[in-house]
Amino acid sequence: MTATCVRIPGDGIGPEVCDAAVRILEAAGAAIEWEEHLAGVAALDAGKGDVLPEATLEAVRRHGVALKGPCTTPIGGGFSSVNVALRRGLDLYGAVRPARNLAGIETRFSDVDLVVIHENTEGLYSGIENTITKGVVTSLKVATLEASRRIARFALDYARARERKKVTVFHKANIMKLTDGLFLDCAREVFDGQEIEYEERIIDAGCMRLVQDPTQFDVLLCENLYGDVVSDLCAGLVGGLGVTPGANIGEHAAVFEAVHGSAPDIAGQDLANPLALVMSGVMLLNHLAEREGDAAYRECGARIRTAYDAALAAGEKTGDIGGSLGTRAFADAVIARL
Ligand code: NAD
Repeated sequence: MTATCVRIPGDGIGPEVCDAAVRILEAAGAAIEWEEHLAGVAALDAGKGDVLPEATLEAVRRHGVALKGPCTTPIGGGFSSVNVALRRGLDLYGAVRPARNLAGIETRFSDVDLVVIHENTEGLYSGIENTITKGVVTSLKVATLEASRRIARFALDYARARERKKVTVFHKANIMKLTDGLFLDCAREVFDGQEIEYEERIIDAGCMRLVQDPTQFDVLLCENLYGDVVSDLCAGLVGGLGVTPGANIGEHAAVFEAVHGSAPDIAGQDLANPLALVMSGVMLLNHLAEREGDAAYRECGARIRTAYDAALAAGEKTGDIGGSLGTRAFADAVIARL
């Protein structure tokens, strides 16, 4: 069986890391046919007239799965986020961002194995901003019963399927009593009476605990903005953005992408670490194994994981995590170990 997956290189370091990740998946024998579509600045440069062309959205809808490189979003003006539009356009409501220690990457803590799950379609990322009068602007935080319930159910299902022990909600319901209050009520309702341990932390104190001892947490459940911020914090605990994968999951489609952005400071220099996107590719393979009921995809993912673990343990790594290899050379090193 061969599945068709959409490949969206993105912009900045996106094309480099996407190329490396696809080369590794192909070398591992993944039964995937790739269909390339553009998004972000790359789509504009190619004359598509839109940072998120309808053809790209339609292809992900049709094939149900995509591997995506990062896309730049201008700060404080310009076009709105391609990434947010893609997640909302395909209703990819569940963001999953694992952070775990890797062989050969020394960090302050060992035994970190966290998964941040966050709501991906609303909250302060709804992009509803208004100028009330000169010097007064507002941003609307949106929380709905439906979205808050379904992300809590998603976290419960995820924790069960992966045999995780505990889910902790990070919130600020002491201040945002209605929005975060609703998020918390839904989580309580969903986790009530379940076998998974459930706890709540006000996010500021939660972050303090996270950097003091991350091993006390297992799965973190957050609304959109908190999850986005906390997942970068978790990336920092295990070696940085170069080693933190992610998935955006909906009922009908799933887009796999690293937590990092387009890193314009190192783009086009063969310096970027492709591992986060390679790891996102392994998540994609596990997803295909479930979707297609075909264990070969999972076995292929396991081969890739063994190969990059061995490469890292042998010191074959990129500069961001203390090595000296470039993007392409690291991909070659993983391929050599497959
Ligand atoms: P960034 O993640 O691109 O970079 C932050 C720092 O980490 C930079 O110093 C960069 O060089 C480094 N870095 C990131 N990925 C790396 C990798 N794979 N290997 C080695 N070093 C890496 O964050 P930023 O600079 O805040 O954002 C740049 C652009 O990316 C912005 O336009 C932002 O909106 C966009 N962005 C996109 C996504 C996405 O497409 N999903 C996610 C986050 C940010």
